[in-house]
Amino acid sequence: MVEPIPQKTSERALERVERILGRALAHASGRDIDDQQVGVARLADLATRAQAARDLLARSAEAGESEREQAAVFAGQVAADAEQLVRDHGPEHGLADEPADTALLAHVREALREDRVRALGLRAAERRGRNETPLDELLELTRASVREFGDSEIAPHAERIHRGDLLVPESLLEKMGALGYFGLSIPEQYGGAGMGNVAMVITTEELSRASLAAAGSLITRPEILAKALLAGGSEAQKQRWLPPIASGELMVGISVTEPDVGSDVARVACRAERATRDGVAGFEITGPKAWCTFAGRADILAVLCRTDPDPAKAARGLSLFIVPKERALGHAFECLQPGGGRLVGKADATPGYRGMHSFTLAFERWFVPADHVIGEEAGLGRGFYLQMGGFAAGRLQTAARATGLAQAALERTAEYVSDRRQFGRPLIDFQLTQYRLGWMATRVAAARAVTHAAAEAMDQDERAAAPRAAQAKLLACRIAVSVTQEGQLLHGGWGYAEEYPISRYVVDAQVLPIFEGVEPILQLKVVGRSLLPERP
Ligand SMILES: Cc1cc2nc3c(=O)[nH]c(=O)nc-3n(C[C@H](O)[C@H](O)[C@H](O)COP(=O)(O)OP(=O)(O)OC[C@H]3O[C@@H](n4cnc5c(N)ncnc54)[C@H](O)[C@@H]3O)c2cc1C
Repeated sequence: MVEPIPQKTSERALERVERILGRALAHASGRDIDDQQVGVARLADLATRAQAARDLLARSAEAGESEREQAAVFAGQVAADAEQLVRDHGPEHGLADEPADTALLAHVREALREDRVRALGLRAAERRGRNETPLDELLELTRASVREFGDSEIAPHAERIHRGDLLVPESLLEKMGALGYFGLSIPEQYGGAGMGNVAMVITTEELSRASLAAAGSLITRPEILAKALLAGGSEAQKQRWLPPIASGELMVGISVTEPDVGSDVARVACRAERATRDGVAGFEITGPKAWCTFAGRADILAVLCRTDPDPAKAARGLSLFIVPKERALGHAFECLQPGGGRLVGKADATPGYRGMHSFTLAFERWFVPADHVIGEEAGLGRGFYLQMGGFAAGRLQTAARATGLAQAALERTAEYVSDRRQFGRPLIDFQLTQYRLGWMATRVAAARAVTHAAAEAMDQDERAAAPRAAQAKLLACRIAVSVTQEGQLLHGGWGYAEEYPISRYVVDAQVLPIFEGVEPILQLKVVGRSLLPERP
């Protein structure tokens, strides 16, 4: 039996991490991030893990013993990472004279004892990986009902959709719409449930546990567009677009990326030019777009376009349009407008994240009326900022998607290592299996804690908490990749068989650190920038 680590001891360890981080960040101040990318990425990672450790510790105080032990182990690992930063990169981060803290090192060794981690693995196996983190009553009810929906309505179809590269069935969209899943954080006055970000992440997590692509990700796009509309739409636009988005009557696609423009969003080139059609004033959209998920089935696309051709305007020359189109259910489509507009889409084949299809698009003089610019005339030139605000909400939702997927991998793996026998014993009887499962459970708990805490912070102040959402996305997506791969390994050869869902979880997880800010961009331009706010 290992002695539990007192919470105070973990808190002291994290204070030391804060001190090291504070010194390293002060040292990095005053220099351009691009001149120190590797160092800033390292600090962004450490700051993110430290945030997760604090969140996990705060939450575990109210939970059971194994949750408290997970928090102590995770905090111990973050403290070890900080000591490693001093040891391996001290001079680079202005920490050459930082003395080693022998008491802290003793704590790290105690926290990271292998028998402590193995005990967590055994506990996870006993629970068959289930997430029973305590919640308040209303959220508990939300989680229970979405979990039931995921198990009965989504999970049975997930494998078929993935293997057949099929579109999510209409019946599922209808049921999700009726349950209000597309409008969870849209205010009630605009037809949403007005439940806020915490309920949204809990719902997303449970839907993604059943299927990342065929359920949890369906609410990303409405979430992003709704946030952009709430931040920058006119009152008439909010009343017109938010209720049908919340009810699921209108499915949404988000179209920012172009074949030659990815992370450098300010350079979006797809243009929207003023035009009049049938006496209606508006814009014609012309140009290519890439990776527009769900563009075929979507009824409306939020398209970021250049309305001011002056290259010097960069981000200030962009506007965000709501672009209606006909539904198309296949892997390729062509839509035509009576006045000559054309929109062509072709899905790009992907190893995972199937169910919505992601399309390369070509707009040719595609007409939209002037009141489809978010913010109308006043919204011209504000598209970049509205889109980025939408992405902040999208990142929180993606952190929840990642947590749900990692949770699914934990459950399948806990079940597998309990049931599978080798050398005459269940796999979970082996120490190394216990240890690896213990780390899986701890990482999933950290992903959940950082995501839920970011959601609470977003409910307080969305703008101020945007870096917290980015940190949650950064960490949870990385955890989803590592936990799904670890789960696959613990399944042995069967983990590579399509017949076992863990093989799907692995390919689904790999996309998570790519979209809504590919990992290096999040490290440098979102999290790094927020840690060094005065820097260019
Ligand atoms: C399945 C899938 C679905 C998607 N769905 C959507 C969608 O619905 N709507 C949408 O608009 N987009 C979508 N995307 C696009 C996604 O958001 C972009 O792929 C992502 O933003 C990265 O852009 P990129 O692919 O052009 O990579 P690039 O910007 O070319 O970056 C490639 C790599 O270059 C490096 N890099 C780039 N810039 C820097 C820098 N300044 N400093 C250091 N390193 C750098 C990084 O290592 C980065 O990983 C989707 C993508 C995928 C794969």
